[in-house]
Formats: sequence, structure tokens, C-alpha cells
Amino acid sequence: MTSGIRDIEISKQILEKINFESNNLSKPITIMHVCGTHEYTVAKNGLRNLLPDNIKIISGPGCPVCVCPTGELDLAIELSKRENVIMTTFGDMMRVPSSTISLFKARAQGHDVRVVYGPNDAVELARKNPTKEVVFFAIGFETTTPSVAFELINDPPSNFSIICTHKTVPPAMDLLLNLPNLELSGFLLPGHVCAIIGAKPFELYAEKYRTPMVVGGFEVNDVLMSLYYILRQTIKKEAFVDNTYKRIVKREGNKKAIQYISDVFEPVDSVWRGIGMISNSGLKIRKKFEEFDAVVKFNVKIEEKIEMPKGCSCDKVLIGNIPPQKCPLFGKSCTPRHPIGPCMVSHEGACKIAFSFREII
Ligand code: SF4
Repeated sequence: MTSGIRDIEISKQILEKINFESNNLSKPITIMHVCGTHEYTVAKNGLRNLLPDNIKIISGPGCPVCVCPTGELDLAIELSKRENVIMTTFGDMMRVPSSTISLFKARAQGHDVRVVYGPNDAVELARKNPTKEVVFFAIGFETTTPSVAFELINDPPSNFSIICTHKTVPPAMDLLLNLPNLELSGFLLPGHVCAIIGAKPFELYAEKYRTPMVVGGFEVNDVLMSLYYILRQTIKKEAFVDNTYKRIVKREGNKKAIQYISDVFEPVDSVWRGIGMISNSGLKIRKKFEEFDAVVKFNVKIEEKIEMPKGCSCDKVLIGNIPPQKCPLFGKSCTPRHPIGPCMVSHEGACKIAFSFREII
């Protein structure tokens, strides 16, 4: 079922179809994706320059590291400074600037901050260090949430806890489709997220906003085919959720993973860095599991902060208001080696991707 997804001859054929159909558009269209891996495919393959002039593809808030709020990051740094704490997180979080320092700098100052590949590694660390408190800084969209839920369900040791900053993608649709100065004609939906929750949660937004949406995979022809499907819906004045990633994504999603998530977490209003509060877009640990909630265990508070570092335009990049290259700091004072904003840190950040592929727009 995967033959052809990287075949350049097929890419050319889909591009021809897109070019042909684009002549039927009554006005230029803008399609947003909300996934760092889609941005990677778009930039790596130079798709923006291959599409006709009347089809623009922009990047939305698809990088969980980039939208992780400063308040939670500040808390992770503060806890990492405690004598008996081992702070653990994904590698991408290490260099994200907080309102003071980064976790990377906290480690350089001698605090015990460790990179793990997943929550299971953090649980293992807690088992091996029973006299320490091991905290996992849990970030990510629906793709990473089930593995965290799985660990909490399966009796982790009592010296394990998490800072929960998990976010959910569908509630962000309301905000994105109401942004001033940005008329979105369609969404390329994130295949990884939909592999967990299915395509169904997006249906109400396609209908409510009369906006075509297509679930897409991550190979070049997955993305091109999805763009073509969005284009066809636009021309036919249709608006529904289609799926070009049927080899992985089912309408109903992965029922087991969905069950894990809902057993452990409940929806809560959540702050997205650079964007603000989005109602019901976050996850909170249910009371039944609160002994593993670092906020409860350490009796601390999280401050609601959305600000970006001074001079950084990540807030505009994250909602597709400007491309990374239009930030005055891009490639000058802000580079992957010396990132100023979170979008230049993560492999899923639009600025890092644009810089890595020297994307010219
Ligand atoms: Fe932020 Fe750097 Fe991107 Fe500018 S180039 S928006 S400072 S991450």
C-alpha cells in the first residue's frame, strides 16, 4: 500500500493535476497544516515553489515544543534545581528558552536534568533511584499522550511524577479559523494525531466553517495528494474531512489509545505559548492519578505566561501570520546553534526547518 509515495514520476503527475485544477480557482487559496513533520516534507521537497502561484501553503501551530507555555517550563527549571529531583524530558525541550534559563543551562549549572526517549525511560529511572524524585516533563499532542497515560495506569513507583502540558489539536481549529487577516481555505490534517484520535473529531469544524480538510501522511506524494484533494473540494464548494492516509488512519482512531487518554486525563482550558488560552485544548491528570501530578506532589503553582523572548516573532510564525524568513532575527541572531525563540529549537519548529533546508520563499 506504500508503493509510489516517494515516486518522483507520480509526484510530477499529481503536480500536473494540481496545476490544471488550479486554473478553476476563482481566487487564490491558502492551506494550513498543523504538523511539524508536514512542514519538514514541504520544505525538504521545495513544494512551495512547485505549487502554482494561486495556492499557498502555510504552517500553523504544529510544534508541541514551540507552544509549550513559559509557566510550565519555568516550573520544570525550578523543580530541577531541587536537591532530590531528577528532571527528565525529550531532547527537543532542553534548549527552549524560558523566562529565565533553559533546561540545558540548568544542567550546565549542575542540576540533574536528563534526556529520555519516552516516559518509560523516566519510570525506569525512578525505579533505579528510589531515594530521588523523578519528574517527567510531559509535552506533546495526542501522539505522545497515550504512552504517558499507559505508564500512569501501570503502577509507576511513588517517586515518579509528571508536569503535564499535553495539548489537543482539534480545539485549536476554532481559533485558527477565526484569526483576523487570515482567510484559510483548507487544512492538511496531521496524520500522526489522527492515527490516535481518528479523523472524526475534525468533522464538526469542517462543517461549522465550511472548510475542506484532508488527513495526510508524511511522504511527498501523501502531501501532494492531500493538497490535490483539498483543491478539488474547494473547486466543488464542498467541505468535509477526507483521508489520503487510510493505510494508517481510521475515522474512529485507535480505540485503545483513546481509552488510555480518557482514563488518565480530562480536558482543560490551556495556554499555548505565543497564542494564548484555547478552551478545552489541554489535558489535566484526573483525581484518581493525582499522586503522580508534580504540581500536586510539590504543592506548586503554574503561572499562565504566553510571552516569547524579546524581539522574537514566533507568535506570528505559529499562526501563519508570517513565514519564518520574515522574522528580522531569522538566520542572523537566531540560528539553530543560538536559538532565540522555540521555533528555532525543535526539529518540528518552522524556523529550524526553514533554516535547515535554506528554504527560499
Ligand atoms: Fe523566533 Fe528565531 Fe523564528 Fe524569529 S527566527 S520567529 S526569533 S525562532
